[in-house]
Amino acid sequence: MFDTLTESFRGAINKIRFHDDEKSLKKALEELKKALLKADVHYKAVKDLLKTVENETKAKGIGKESFLSALRQGLLEILQTSGSQGFVFASKPPTVVLMAGLQGSGKTTTTAKLASFLKTKGKKVLMAACDLQRLAAVEQLKQLSAQIEVDLYHEEESANPVQIAKNALHRANEGLYDVLLVDTAGRLAIDEALMQELKSVKEAIHPHEVFYVADSLSGQDGVRSAERFHQEMALSGVILSKFDGDSKGGVALSIAYQIGIPLRFIGSGEKIPDLDPFLPDRIVNRLMG
Ligand code: GDP
Repeated sequence: MFDTLTESFRGAINKIRFHDDEKSLKKALEELKKALLKADVHYKAVKDLLKTVENETKAKGIGKESFLSALRQGLLEILQTSGSQGFVFASKPPTVVLMAGLQGSGKTTTTAKLASFLKTKGKKVLMAACDLQRLAAVEQLKQLSAQIEVDLYHEEESANPVQIAKNALHRANEGLYDVLLVDTAGRLAIDEALMQELKSVKEAIHPHEVFYVADSLSGQDGVRSAERFHQEMALSGVILSKFDGDSKGGVALSIAYQIGIPLRFIGSGEKIPDLDPFLPDRIVNRLMG
C-alpha cells in the first residue's frame, strides 16, 4: 500500500541536505516534485503542495525539520477535504447509500464489505442487487450475503433496476433496517446509458449518500472517471479499493484534491474484513515513514 509514493518520498527526503539556505530548499522541493509526479499525483495538486511547503518552510526558518512539518501539514490539508470520514448515519433510518463505480472497480465486493463493517457495529443492514448489467453480479451478491449473514433484496424476474431499488427501499422501511446499500450497475467505461440509469435510481430513492468506488490502480484515468461521476451524480464520498495492490498512492491525493469530496474508506484486500475508515493522519504517517 502506498509503496511507490512512500519509497519516492523517503528517497526525496533522504536526499535533502539542508544548509539553511534557499538553494537547498529549492533542491528539496525539486526532489519532492519528482517523487509526487512519479507517484501519479495530479500536477495541480503538486504545484499547490510545493507552494505551501515552500512558504511554510520559509516562515518557520529553512531547515529539514520545518520542511518536513510543512510537508506533513500540506498533505493533511489535501486529504482532510471538507466533510466527514467513515460512515455517517441519517437522523432517521434507514440511511440509504447508493454505490456507484465502473465495472471491475470492486463495487459489489465493497458493498458487502461495508455491509459487514456496519453489521459489526450492531446495525441492521439490507443490501439491494440493482446491478443487472454484469450477469454474475446478483449471484455474487447472493453468495456474499449468505457469507456475511446480511439480508439481500433482489428480484429474479425484473430487469428494471429503478423499480428494484424502490422496492428495496420499501422493504428497508418496513423491516426497520438501519442501512440500505444499493449496488448499481457499472460499465467498463462511462457512457450516457449508465449515467441515465444511475440518475434514475438516485431520483427514485433519494439516497443520503452516493459513494463512488474507485480502483486505486487506475491512476489519472481513475481520477477523471471520478470527476465525471461527481459532475453527474453529486457524489458524497469515495471509497478507494485495491489499496493493497501495486498502487502508486497518488490517486488518493489526486481525488481528494481534484474533486474535493471526502475519502471515506479504503479497501485493502479481497476479503470481507479488508475495509477500513480512511484516516488522513494514518495515511500521512505511512507516507512519510
Ligand atoms: P464490480 O464489477 O465493481 O462490482 O467489481 P467486483 O466487486 O466484482 O470486484 C472486482 C475484483 O476486484 C474482484 O476480483 C474482487 O475480489 C477484487 N477486489 C475488490 N476490492 C479489492 C481490494 O480492496 N483489493 C483487492 N486486491 N482486490 C479487490
